[in-house]
Amino acid sequence: MRRILWFRRDLRREDNLLLSQEGDVLPIFIFDPAILGSLPKNDRRVTFIFNALLPLKSALRARGLDLAIFYGKPVDVFEWLLKNGAYNDVCASGDYDAYALSRDRDISHLLEFTYLQDTYIFHPDEVLKKDKTPYQVFTPFYNCAKTLFTPAHMIEYLPCTQSLIEFDYTQMHRIDKNEHSVHPICLESIGFEPQSLISHQKMSSNEKLELFVSKLNNYSHDRDYMMLDATSFLSIDLRFGTISVRALLRWLVEQKKAGLDTDPFFRQLIFRDFYAMLLYHFPHLATQNFRYRFEGIPNDDYFKAFCTAQTGVPIVDAGVRELLETGEMHNRVRMICASFFTKNLLLPWQWGEAFFAHHLMDYDAASNILSWQWSAGTGVDPQPYFRIFNPTTQSEKFDKAEVYRKRHLPSDYTRTPIVDHKESSKKALEYFKSTL
Ligand SMILES: Cc1cc2nc3c(=O)[nH]c(=O)nc-3n(C[C@H](O)[C@H](O)[C@H](O)COP(=O)(O)OP(=O)(O)OC[C@H]3O[C@@H](n4cnc5c(N)ncnc54)[C@H](O)[C@@H]3O)c2cc1C
Repeated sequence: MRRILWFRRDLRREDNLLLSQEGDVLPIFIFDPAILGSLPKNDRRVTFIFNALLPLKSALRARGLDLAIFYGKPVDVFEWLLKNGAYNDVCASGDYDAYALSRDRDISHLLEFTYLQDTYIFHPDEVLKKDKTPYQVFTPFYNCAKTLFTPAHMIEYLPCTQSLIEFDYTQMHRIDKNEHSVHPICLESIGFEPQSLISHQKMSSNEKLELFVSKLNNYSHDRDYMMLDATSFLSIDLRFGTISVRALLRWLVEQKKAGLDTDPFFRQLIFRDFYAMLLYHFPHLATQNFRYRFEGIPNDDYFKAFCTAQTGVPIVDAGVRELLETGEMHNRVRMICASFFTKNLLLPWQWGEAFFAHHLMDYDAASNILSWQWSAGTGVDPQPYFRIFNPTTQSEKFDKAEVYRKRHLPSDYTRTPIVDHKESSKKALEYFKSTL
């Protein structure tokens, strides 16, 4: 059995289903120009991926395997591979956004596709209502997920015996239609410049867990306070699979046995599954509203002010500066920014989603799209349209001493809001009511 092991959102050696598939194997990773093409040379995520690939390659080599790295359209890469060798199948773990599904469909026309369930806790068809339709509200989904959750969802996949297929693993292979060229394995070979990452972006997932363990018990309360750094910072690891979600669950079980309150954190992990399930079943949500007709009102000046952190609303501008400077934004600040964007500025949520997608280190189509739709009140399980966050009271509550704001705002920052909260909220409510 000759198999291609396609690493995508599972850039780790431990607890990796790909490594428990028996046979002669060609492990590969593909840098896809369809994804990279729209990114600037200094994109931090590409550095993160590259920094994850090199240790993965070394770890595979330590077990007698290796990793072949490609740059090219996946379909071109597979056509080239099949022209130069015979393979029985390609194994890869589930990736459920629209682009990923159509890409995988194209590959499945070339070669038997063995789909593995690795990225999420549940398969998107696993937690369904009694009538087999998808849940549209989180709490019932969560309650059902809890009843269906078994030790099998946390199983550790151990590596089996695999023999490495002979290949040139020492170079990066660039495939352009039928043209093949080799290049040194470095970021420059794919047109990117190495970026310096902030400290926890360089930490391993195990180091993050060690730091997080003392915070877990107070997570439920502290996670909303942006200056406390009370969350796990694991979203990027979950995005690129530098931690296995099953390993994270096993860790959580250990902490529960030690008497810690693990349910609030587990609930957030289920949120991630809920959003992935929704985008899988309702792919049009990527661009279209699920509920309500309000589309937002395009306004280039407002959009520019938001994206350059010039709204004059301190917590919003601090959040956007954090995003631009680090590729991160605290969850509570994401909620405040998305509410301000879609309610006070009345901009189309799709614009904000695209801006976040461009900059977030942990960008994940499902979580980002569904969170923006939730904020805009247009999604499957939306925040009611009449609930509009007040950025000032949010700041006073969750960043009382202005630690977060001062951390991210320049000392010469001036506060002249581009819209008045009271007036813009009133206008938004009138607009929503008129379009319902
Ligand atoms: C407008 C908006 C856009 C967002 N875009 C993304 C995105 O592109 N990618 C992304 O991973 N998360 C996104 N989130 C969710 C959330 O902000 C991040 O997952 C969280 O801030 C990551 O930090 P953490 O790993 O320290 O989270 P923790 O609080 O430690 O949570 C643990 C894990 O649970 C999951 N999680 C936590 N909160 C949520 C949530 N509200 N929705 C879905 N999953 C959650 C994440 O995988 C996270 O790593 C978005 C939220 C909003 C409001």
